[in-house]
Amino acid sequence: MTTRGKLAAGNWKMNGQGSDLQQIETLRAALDRGEHGECGVLICPPATLLERMARLGGENLALGGQDCHAAQSGAHTGDISAPMLADAGASHVIVGHSERRGDHDEQDADIRAKAEAAHGAGLTAIVCIGETLEEREAGRTLDTLCAQLAGSLPDGASAANTVVAYEPIWAIGTGKVPQGAQIAEVHDRLRSELETRFGEDGAGIRLLYGGSVKASNAAEIFAIDNVDGALVGGASLKADDFLGIIAALAKA
Ligand code: PEP
Repeated sequence: MTTRGKLAAGNWKMNGQGSDLQQIETLRAALDRGEHGECGVLICPPATLLERMARLGGENLALGGQDCHAAQSGAHTGDISAPMLADAGASHVIVGHSERRGDHDEQDADIRAKAEAAHGAGLTAIVCIGETLEEREAGRTLDTLCAQLAGSLPDGASAANTVVAYEPIWAIGTGKVPQGAQIAEVHDRLRSELETRFGEDGAGIRLLYGGSVKASNAAEIFAIDNVDGALVGGASLKADDFLGIIAALAKA
């Protein structure tokens, strides 16, 4: 049986300024005390805070970007490349978040190219997929997710360089969470798609759930088979909230 490490990943989105570095100090101190057990812990701050967070150090806290350009450098005003993120202290980068897909019309092929760029820079890509409420209500959840998974993952994806995050769009920032059976159905199917395409490596690619995860519902979500951790938005902004989720994952 493949053993996959657990991961609690926080996505700060377009939130956070210098004064919020205090949250990282608190988080780091708790991790230095071992509160995360065997779990990996990652924060993806806005790019403006990445290097400052990296300078704070902390061997138990990984840092990531929230997006990267597919090119290494060039005339792309406002964009950030994967090698730049790595240079600033990131080990991971989120690609294909539904807010990027929606706000910037990113398609699966764009996300695949970004994941390839991430791998080329030595970063782990956290590839996000998720269905809309309309797709779920029309019974198209699994078809939608399988198409996104196939189109967004490059052939070079492996357990070492890729994490997949299932984030139902209707659950992000809404307080609504799918039923346990709905999460289980999706994660079981994604696991089997990954194994079919990537074999042994597919069995090792971690699958995170994301969408309104909080300390109060985390234990229930982490008890579901094939849920290897969470991608957390709002509840990652305050160290104490995020530590509650990390504690639930450490116990799962
Ligand atoms: C997210 O944006 O990835 C997310 C899961 O947000 P929230 O936890 O706030 O629903």
